[in-house]
Amino acid sequence: MSTERITHLIGGAPWTGVSERTSKVYNPATGEVTGELDLASAATVDEVVKVAHDASKAWAQTSLSKRTQVLFAFRELVNQRKEQIAALITAEHGKVLSDAVGEVTRGLEVIEFACGIPHLLKGGFSEGVSTKVDVYSIRQPLGVCAVISPFNFPAMVPMWFVPIAVACGNSVVIKPSEKDPSAANAMAELWKEAGLPDGVVNVVHGDKEAVDRLLEHPDIKSVSFVGSTPIAKYVYENGTKNGKRVQALGGAKNHMVVLPDADLDLAADAAVNAGFGSAGERCMAISALVAVEPIADELVGKIKERMATLKTGDGTRGCDMGPLVTGPHRDKVTGYVAAGVESGAELVVDGRDGEFDGAADGFWLGPTLFDKVTPEMSIYTDEIFGPVLSVVRLPSYDAALDLVNSNPYGNGTAIFTNDGGAARRFQNEVEVGMVGINVPIPVPMAYYSFGGWKNSLFGDTHAHGMEGVHFFTRGKVVTSRWLDPSHGGLNLGFPTHD
Ligand code: NAD
Repeated sequence: MSTERITHLIGGAPWTGVSERTSKVYNPATGEVTGELDLASAATVDEVVKVAHDASKAWAQTSLSKRTQVLFAFRELVNQRKEQIAALITAEHGKVLSDAVGEVTRGLEVIEFACGIPHLLKGGFSEGVSTKVDVYSIRQPLGVCAVISPFNFPAMVPMWFVPIAVACGNSVVIKPSEKDPSAANAMAELWKEAGLPDGVVNVVHGDKEAVDRLLEHPDIKSVSFVGSTPIAKYVYENGTKNGKRVQALGGAKNHMVVLPDADLDLAADAAVNAGFGSAGERCMAISALVAVEPIADELVGKIKERMATLKTGDGTRGCDMGPLVTGPHRDKVTGYVAAGVESGAELVVDGRDGEFDGAADGFWLGPTLFDKVTPEMSIYTDEIFGPVLSVVRLPSYDAALDLVNSNPYGNGTAIFTNDGGAARRFQNEVEVGMVGINVPIPVPMAYYSFGGWKNSLFGDTHAHGMEGVHFFTRGKVVTSRWLDPSHGGLNLGFPTHD
């Protein structure tokens, strides 16, 4: 099978240089190599940042009406090409097609939010703060913004940031995951088709070398990173050390607490959907189910029943769950299953024994369920990022809350209960950034902001919503007085109102 060369998109055109280093892109459902990806050197990053920097000047001066027209056109194109983008995602990531379409749809919401940029950028105005003196505030673009994204949402995560950065008048350099790079290129081509001037959105592919150069380049003004916690911390520390604005979203261990009064059928559906959707490769996946006794036996039984109906296979064949993203990642997750057994957890469903509707060399692992997991086991402590759901049995709401709050991650959590008072207490007491009440994957809509607490986010700004608009702009306050001969004169005191 022939492999496609995948390269950077700089100033609206594919890069024409010769790369010293490349990496392989796989179709996870077949195990075949489908692409050879150019990995940028520091010099190539410099090339792309220069193009972005040059383009940023005119774009920052482009009227809000013109910018909005481009955003509306981009929204239409992404909506029309949803299926094609989804097919690219499935071919490189492995998630099933319907889930890939869902990813693009959630990204579209952010474009729609950014279409309202004239309203979102309105400043304040105070007339007559002092005699004939007015004060107003404006927000201006930063310049060139870097967006570094993970493999698990190759279209949606860049869309959390890029439409807002562009709407605010910035240029962008996207550095996608090297595991599934094609969706970012396809989206960049749609920006061009939508009428965005060349150089405002660029894609540079690469690994640590490219990321390190983006973190130190003087013309990169902000870094929006999403990925695992150790790399998020590294990006935050190095980016801020170099004077950049950084929002670095990291890993997760999301708990779903089920109280004894919950609707157990609803809870079992939610646990299966949120535990195994996208093969557990979601930062908002549920990986720890906390069953508050005495309902654990019944709940585990219901989850097991539902798991028996799931079909794992090639994402293009109408299955429920696809393969894992790469062979090494599948092996790492399988290693956690072995470690779970070794540490004494009860393996209720073993995904290693599954039947898979796909090629023999695909990166397969079926849905896996552990019961009687305890907090010191590695299947509980680590972010596995695979289709492995661990049930922890606890005696009370207080013990469940303690467990969630003691966890170093704080991305998402959910509580299942029919008791409004308990739900309200949980939303108030839990130390997690995104909370679901009878909703297992509480990903906020685009007009709210997405982000976790503790080791799930470094920096103080979450993604999209008004926090996104603030992140991609700098505030300025203007105090103005138009000449009035009656108001002159010397006064060396600190200005006060008169
Ligand atoms: P990753 O950390 O391996 O990679 C993320 C990005 O960092 C990629 O672009 C990659 O090329 C780059 N990178 C990798 N190693 C690097 C290094 N040593 N130095 C500099 N850059 C490096 O993450 P991943 O495996 O692609 O994605 C899965 C992780 O992302 C999970 O931990 C998941 O929880 C997290 N995630 C978090 C959120 C969130 O909103 N908090 C959303 C999606 C994914």
